[in-house]
Amino acid sequence: MSDQDRSARFIGTDDDVAIIPPESDTESETRATKALDGTKSTWMAFFKTAVREAMAGRVTQPQALALLSNRLKRSGEDAYRDALRENGITELDEFDQFQLDQWDGEQQGYLRSFVDELYSTGLTPEQADSRATLWADKSLQDAYMAALTSVDKNSNYMWKYSAEAKHCTDCEALDGQVHRLKEWESRDLRPKSDRLDCKLGCKCELIKTTEAAKGRFLGGVLNSLRCNQVFIISRMAV
Ligand SMILES: [Zn+2]
Repeated sequence: MSDQDRSARFIGTDDDVAIIPPESDTESETRATKALDGTKSTWMAFFKTAVREAMAGRVTQPQALALLSNRLKRSGEDAYRDALRENGITELDEFDQFQLDQWDGEQQGYLRSFVDELYSTGLTPEQADSRATLWADKSLQDAYMAALTSVDKNSNYMWKYSAEAKHCTDCEALDGQVHRLKEWESRDLRPKSDRLDCKLGCKCELIKTTEAAKGRFLGGVLNSLRCNQVFIISRMAV
């Protein structure tokens, strides 16, 4: 357990419960690491504290849902803004707000099921840790990517897998490929995408590059043949 986690704590009475964020999360320093990493760890610390307090019976189910739901909404917006800020944008426009609302609507559904589960079957601290990471790496990452795509869709990004991780055949095929961000997104090819064999286990990254486009996503010719077949079959069915 990190110091950060230990220092996050709940205060308040039944009607008014709040969480004091860990000291180190108050903006400032850590300019060297990506802002998104800070956004993720703030969320994870909060999430783990909330689960711990719920398991200890110190917050009711509706309180836990309200706390997590507010924090997730804020963290999602933070992640979204992190991507905008990296591209010199500080204000959300209407489209950004629309994207965030979509994201939030989806997340709140997941959150309700999660809190139901928490209060029916419970979670061990280890399970809580891995859920915290999952929300950060999948959901907050999604919010970040949505913002990045809206501001930087025409830039080239290279797929790069991490040296430590094992690779699935999909990521092996994608490693080193360079495409515009909108091309990656329209194919739902991004780290931890459901389209990949490794799914949430994926440790790859998409990194902005000045290199020219290269590669054929997942199997070029074969894929387009398969698409054509589906097309022909569906035409015949009509
Ligand atoms: Zn991967």
